[in-house]
Amino acid sequence: MPSDEWNDDSRDFTDINPTPSLPDGRGVRIGILTSGGDAQGMNAAVRAVVRSALSVGAEVYAIFEGYQGMIDGGDGIRPFDWEDVGSILNRGGTVIGTFRSKEMREREGRLKAVRHLLHRGIDRLVVIGGDGSLTGLNLLRNEWPGLVAELVKRGDLAPETAREHPSLMIAGMVGSIDNDLVGSDMTIGADTALHRIVDAIDDLASTAASHQRSFVVEVMGRHCGYLALMSAVAGGADFVLVPEQPPEPGWEDRMCADLKAGRKAGRRDSIVIVAEGATDRQGNPIKADYVRQVLIDRLNEDARVTILGHVQRGGTPSAYDRWASTWLGYNAVHEVLTATPDSEGRVIATRSNRIDRISLVKAVADTQRVPDLIGDGKYRDAMRMRGRSFVEMDAIFNELAAPVRTIPAEGDKRIGIMHAGGPAPGMNTAARALARLGISRGHHMIGIHSGFIGLAAGDLSELTWEETEGLTGEGGAMLGTRREVPRTQDLYAISRALEKNEIDALIVVGGYSAYDGVHKMTTERDRYPAFRIPTVCVPASIDNNLPGSELSIGADTALNVIVDAMDKIKESGIASKRCFVVETMGKNCGYLAMMSGLAAGAERIYLNEEGISLDDLVADMHWLRESFANGRRLFLAVRNENASANYTTDFLARMMEEESHGMYDVRTAVLGHMQQGGSPSPFDRLLASRLAYHALNLTDDELAAGHDGAWFIGVKEGHLRPGRMDTMPTLVDPQHRRPRDQWWLDLRAVVRTVSDELRS
Ligand code: ADP
Repeated sequence: MPSDEWNDDSRDFTDINPTPSLPDGRGVRIGILTSGGDAQGMNAAVRAVVRSALSVGAEVYAIFEGYQGMIDGGDGIRPFDWEDVGSILNRGGTVIGTFRSKEMREREGRLKAVRHLLHRGIDRLVVIGGDGSLTGLNLLRNEWPGLVAELVKRGDLAPETAREHPSLMIAGMVGSIDNDLVGSDMTIGADTALHRIVDAIDDLASTAASHQRSFVVEVMGRHCGYLALMSAVAGGADFVLVPEQPPEPGWEDRMCADLKAGRKAGRRDSIVIVAEGATDRQGNPIKADYVRQVLIDRLNEDARVTILGHVQRGGTPSAYDRWASTWLGYNAVHEVLTATPDSEGRVIATRSNRIDRISLVKAVADTQRVPDLIGDGKYRDAMRMRGRSFVEMDAIFNELAAPVRTIPAEGDKRIGIMHAGGPAPGMNTAARALARLGISRGHHMIGIHSGFIGLAAGDLSELTWEETEGLTGEGGAMLGTRREVPRTQDLYAISRALEKNEIDALIVVGGYSAYDGVHKMTTERDRYPAFRIPTVCVPASIDNNLPGSELSIGADTALNVIVDAMDKIKESGIASKRCFVVETMGKNCGYLAMMSGLAAGAERIYLNEEGISLDDLVADMHWLRESFANGRRLFLAVRNENASANYTTDFLARMMEEESHGMYDVRTAVLGHMQQGGSPSPFDRLLASRLAYHALNLTDDELAAGHDGAWFIGVKEGHLRPGRMDTMPTLVDPQHRRPRDQWWLDLRAVVRTVSDELRS
C-alpha cells in the first residue's frame, strides 16, 4: 500500500523508470526463493525471474522451501531451466515451496546458507515473501562479508571463492495476500485474495437476501484492513471493522442503527466484514462471533458467521496477479544484475501503475510501524500509512453504505446518469455508486436509459436507493447502453430532453462513443445552451482505449474472462502437439491481447499497434517449426481482433497448419462477446466506485461554483485526475480510436523475454 509520502500528488513521476532492457548476465548465478505465507502469483514471479535470467545468459537456482532450502543445501538448491517453470502461471501457491525457517533467524543457520550458496557460486538472491522474509534477506546481505570471513576461518570455504563473492546482491518482491507493505500499491496475491472474498460475499448475499439474514464475514488481515475494506466496498457490505481504525466505544449501537436503517430502506441482506485483526480501542479483539451475538441480541436478526480462512490463499491467480508478478520478476532480475555491493537493498514493487524500486529497509520499517501506531492510539496516522486511496476508500464506503440520507443544503440538483458505448462490466457498479452518493448528498439522480438515443427520446426516470440494491456485482448495464454517437440532427432532441427534465449536470459512464458524443455536445454549446451544464465522462470500456485514463472500468474483468478461457484452451490441447490462435476483442487497441497474453503465458502476441508483416510471419513459422521439433507440445498465439486487416485469425491458423508439415495441429478460438459479460472483478468494482466518487465530487464543485465545464476523469500514474474534454483531440488518435500514449506497450520487452521469442 502506498504511504502518503510516496503517493503525494505533487511528486514528479517521471523518475519511475520505463521497463529497462536486461544487461548481459553471463557468468552470474542467481538464487530464487519464496518465503513466509504463500500467495497466488508467486509462481508467475518465479517463472519471470527464471526466464528473464536465462534469457541474458545467467544461471538460475531454485531454492526450495524458502530459506530452509539453502540452509539444508543438497537438493534444496537446484539449477532451473526454461521448462522447469513451464505451465505454472495458472497454479496457486508456489511450486518451489515456502517455509517459515527458524534456523534462518540464527547466525549458525545463516552461516550454513552462505556456505551452500557459495559452493554453487550463487551471490545474487531474489526473494519473494512478506516483511519478515525481506528482513531476513537484508540481514543476510548485511552479514554476508562477516559470514564469508568466518567460513574461510573455519576452513569451510576456499579463500579464492570468498574473494570472488565479497557481497550479496539482492532484490525483494512482496508476496502477501494482505497487501500490507507500506510503499507498494499491490502486493503479489492481494488481488486474487480479493477475488476469493468478493466471490464469497456475492454468494452469501444471495442466500442472505432470500432469508433476510445477516452475515458476519471474517477475512484475513492481522494488522492491515486492506482486504476487509476493499471487499466491503466491492461486495456492497453494510459495515466493516479494520485494525487501523478501532471503532469508538458504543460502535455496536452505531452498527445496529446503520443496519436497521438499511433494512428500512429496502435491503434484504446485511453483511458485516471483520478483519481478523480488528480490535476495539482498548486493543481487545473484536471477533466475528461477538458481532453476530450483538446482531442477534439487539436486532433480533438471524445472523450467521462465515470465516473465510485459507480459501483466501487458494485457487488460481487472477489475471492481474499473473501479469503484474511477471513484470515484477523481470525487473527483479534487472535489479540483481545491476546492484552493486554499495547499493541499497531494494524491493521491486508496483506503484502508481508502474514498477518501482523502493528502499527495502524503509518499506519494512514503515510496515512494522503500523501496528505500533495502532497500539499508541494514532489511528489517523495508521490510516495515512496505508495511503491516500485507502483513506479515500474508507470515506467512499461510509457514504455508500449509509442508508438514504439527504443533505439538502449541499444538493438538490438534478443530475443525469447515462451510459454509452459497448457494455463494460462495472457499469452497474458505477451507476449504483453515483446514484447512492448523489442521493446521500441530496440530489435527484436521473437515470437516462439507452444512451444518447434514449436521451433524445426522453427516456429518463429518477433513481431510488432501493433500485440500486444488489447492483454492485451485476454485469451488464441496468440503464442500458448504446454505441450510437449522436448525429447532428439528434442534438436538438437531446437539448430539449435536457431542458424538459431540468438536468443540471450530466455524468456519462461509457466508452469511446460516450466521449465522442460528449465532445460533440461541447462543441455545439453555442447553438444549444442546454449543453452548458457540468458534464463528466467516466471511462468504462473493456478495450481500455480511452483518453486521460490508463485503466477503464471493465478491462480487468474482460482480462480475467480471457485468461480463464485461455487456461481451458491450453488444457484441452494437452493430449496432442497443438498450436492455438486465440482472438481477443479490443478493436484497434491491443491492451486485452497484450495483457492476457502476458497473463496466460502466450508465446506470440499480434497487436494492431504493431501490425503484422510478412517478414514477421516467416520468422514465426520458422520459430514454430523449430520449437515443436525441439519438443514443444503447445504454442499459444494471441491475436487482437484488428491486428491486421488481411492476416486474419483464420489466415494465421491456415498458414501455421500448412507450415506444420504434420508436426502439430492448429486450432482457433474467437472469444467474442463473452469478454463483455460477467460479474465485474473486484478491481473493476473498486475502480468504478472511486471514479464515480470523483466524478460526483467534480460535478458538485462545478455546480457550487456556477461553472459548466466538460470533463473526463481517469487514472493517471495511480491517481484519479480530471482532464478537460476540449483536450481530447490532442490525446487520441482518432483514426484508431485509442490514446496516442499507451503505457502498457512498455511491457513488450517483458513478453519477448518470458515467452521464448528471443530464443528463436
Ligand atoms: P512473512 O515473510 O510472510 O512476513 P515471516 O515473518 O514468518 O513471514 O518470515 C518468513 C521467514 O523469513 C521466517 O520464517 C524466517 O525464515 C525469515 N525471517 C523473518 N524474519 C527474520 C529475521 N528477523 N531474521 C532472519 N530471518 C527472518
